[in-house]
Amino acid sequence: MKVTLPKGTKDILPDEMIGWRFVENTFYQICINSGYGEIRTPVFEYTNLFNRGVGDTTDIVQKEMYTFNDKGGRSLTLRPEGTAGVARSFIEKGMASLPQPVKLFYMITAYRYENVQKGRYREFNQLGAEIFGAAGPVADVEVISLLNNFFSKLGLDKLSLEINSIGCPGCRNAYNVKLKEYYSDRIDGMCADCKRRFDTNPLRLIDCKNESCIAASLDAPLMLDNLCGECASHFSGVKAGLDSLDIKYTVNPRIVRGLDYYTKTVFEFVSENVGTQGTVCGGGRYDGLVESLGGSGTPGIGFSLGVERLFMELESNNIITGDKLVPEIYFVTIGEKAYAYARKLSCALRRAGVYTEMDLLGRSVKAQMKDADRKNARYVLVVGDDEIRQNKAQIKIMETGELKDVSLDSIYKRILEKKVQVV
Ligand code: ATP
Ligand code: MG
Repeated sequence: MKVTLPKGTKDILPDEMIGWRFVENTFYQICINSGYGEIRTPVFEYTNLFNRGVGDTTDIVQKEMYTFNDKGGRSLTLRPEGTAGVARSFIEKGMASLPQPVKLFYMITAYRYENVQKGRYREFNQLGAEIFGAAGPVADVEVISLLNNFFSKLGLDKLSLEINSIGCPGCRNAYNVKLKEYYSDRIDGMCADCKRRFDTNPLRLIDCKNESCIAASLDAPLMLDNLCGECASHFSGVKAGLDSLDIKYTVNPRIVRGLDYYTKTVFEFVSENVGTQGTVCGGGRYDGLVESLGGSGTPGIGFSLGVERLFMELESNNIITGDKLVPEIYFVTIGEKAYAYARKLSCALRRAGVYTEMDLLGRSVKAQMKDADRKNARYVLVVGDDEIRQNKAQIKIMETGELKDVSLDSIYKRILEKKVQVV
């Protein structure tokens, strides 16, 4: 039997994992520095969480969820995104009674049954953060500045930020009436998805990527021109906050997040090598979410970022090139006694935080040297019985080929003092 990966999934192999760790560690550090706490929620939740929390009318719920009954007959779904589970936890764990706001971040896998293509998988990774309990535009600015810090720490300055406001239920309802009026004599020429959305979620018609739908939407009224006073001043506050941090953005009145619970600010970070998978990160305000899941009315704002798409961007900018880790010291040993001695030294170095290598296959000295070379070790320390007796060994600086005598004792002492510079 030939075993293969399920369609739309992938293995991340050790060389690639170095880049993944770099990205995750950078995100972790930026979130911690910004006062966010990490949260882990289950990979699966009861299906009704996503029906309500993501929204019945969205593509995710209608087409993309991995839903199954467990042996006890409960309907479960693999999380298609992170926000709903985090909001469920916020409510269930009583986080509304903690000092507000509550700032959380996560690094998760998510699952969607999609047409697999570059940048679009069925299991993929998201980094996300949410702020609950802060209604003002400063929270929107804080979330966006977190992302801005993250990208600049990664050395990525090629993503452009696009922002919009999709209003609140009050102004959006009135706007939906206008939209429906506009589309009523155009909807016949639009795609099947749009025909379906016309009644349930007309806002989505604006961002349909189908050519005839784009043409039909050219003169559609925009939410941005129809905001109520409060939503308009919130949006001005967000723009002013971004300006004061020198964060560049463009207002794109056609960004709509497909999710029912989104309100006011929506934003995306888009790759300049635009393709259909150009959106690296999407976020926005969701003042209606917690309440729609049965919690008390709590404003929220957050984002989620697709790690695979971020990697496409990092790789195309040569920021991640799949570098290998190289050992600091490779111990080449001659004989059992020397092996035991070097192993002790090697263990101590590893505890002190130094990457060391030793042979595990009983190789000859020549083969050990070859292995050290192949692994690009910085230093090779040759240890045999004589060296132990004389408490002296030769260390080879691989880059230059230079040989130096070092005292084994002193190496050991230096390790204990945590001075890892060997030569
Ligand atoms: P798209 O329009 O590309 O389908 P989306 O609006 O469905 O994106 P979100 O639900 O906002 O995406 O998810 C946030 C981010 O997660 C996206 O911006 C993207 O980077 C990433 N993402 C979403 N779906 C996938 C997928 N199937 N494979 C890889 N990354 C994904
Ligand atoms: Mg999608």
